[in-house]
Amino acid sequence: MIKRLARNRNLSDGELKTLIETGDYDAEMFKAADSVRRSVYGADVYIRGLIEFTNYCKNDCYYCGIRHGNTNAKRYRLDLGQIFSCAEQGYELGFRTFVLQGGEDPYYTDDMICEIVSGIKRRHGDCAVTLSIGERSEKSFRAYWASGADRYLLRHETSDGAHYRMLHPDSMSLENRKACLWNLKKIGYQVGSGFMVDSPYQTTENIIADLRFLQELQPSMIGIGPYITHADTPFRNFPSGSAEKCIRLVAILRLMFPYALIPATTALGTIAPDGRERGLSAGANVVMPNLSPTSVRKYYLLYDNKICTGDEAAECRNCLDVRVRLAGYKVVIGRGDAKTYEHGDVAV
Ligand code: SAH
Repeated sequence: MIKRLARNRNLSDGELKTLIETGDYDAEMFKAADSVRRSVYGADVYIRGLIEFTNYCKNDCYYCGIRHGNTNAKRYRLDLGQIFSCAEQGYELGFRTFVLQGGEDPYYTDDMICEIVSGIKRRHGDCAVTLSIGERSEKSFRAYWASGADRYLLRHETSDGAHYRMLHPDSMSLENRKACLWNLKKIGYQVGSGFMVDSPYQTTENIIADLRFLQELQPSMIGIGPYITHADTPFRNFPSGSAEKCIRLVAILRLMFPYALIPATTALGTIAPDGRERGLSAGANVVMPNLSPTSVRKYYLLYDNKICTGDEAAECRNCLDVRVRLAGYKVVIGRGDAKTYEHGDVAV
């Protein structure tokens, strides 16, 4: 079954269900995923400097710690100077991609986002800029693109309408989220999508539908991480997700999407101390450490017990180098764009 998955980049729903729900194929599957990853990306791991520039959010996603309704969250915004200095520091540490992530914060107008993007591109012409600022209009996406943004991360969260409504208030819609993803793709962005593993009410069928949606979208980047409980959300009583299932899904994704950029996420590293390393061994090829100033880092809490909130960027960078090396891979300094089949076919 694993050989067939590697060859066809696909399996039936029933077969995927078996892979997702049982650990029976894990060893074989992780090995196959690693070999596919090595045939496309070698041992290279791409790093992204994450700048969490605002934790204000107008949305109220039931799972998220920086939701509008969480009055316990201490809110902050970085100004343009602070953002540029994060990028500067990141550049010196070898980052060549900056990810600007935040809550959905209308304080940052389109003009400001464009100024941030073009400011970073002007200072660091050899870097890619990724935005992860939620749902915006096609017009806004076009403006950011024109100012130099290269990539956009917008997880679809769940591709099932009923499940989406269990995770979000009525003011939000799956239709709009999906429309944003298609718009971003049409404009020319390298698009990233993904979902949480073990989010409340999620079924295996939901996950299979997520994989099917990703097959349709064919994103350049796929981010998944375990759902982790945050005590100040309506989902405070739901348990956090499983590292094992998340890692298993990383391997399935690698086999289905050989060319995708797949991060070993901070959430995975939070739920298990060796989570990111195990993610790398199962096919992940990207790590996204935090570059935000230490003074605000502890406030960008989407979930409880987030790792690395006290470390300086330079410490994170060193720690990462060691971890990646010990896992059997190497951090490369470069933009780390997604490869395509033109770079060579996958050996299976
Ligand atoms: N506002 C932006 C960025 C969201 S934060 C946007 O709408 O895209 C990035 C991702 O963190 C989210 O897409 C979500 O999948 C994940 N996330 C949020 N809360 C989480 C939680 N409690 N546990 C794990 N992941 C979470």
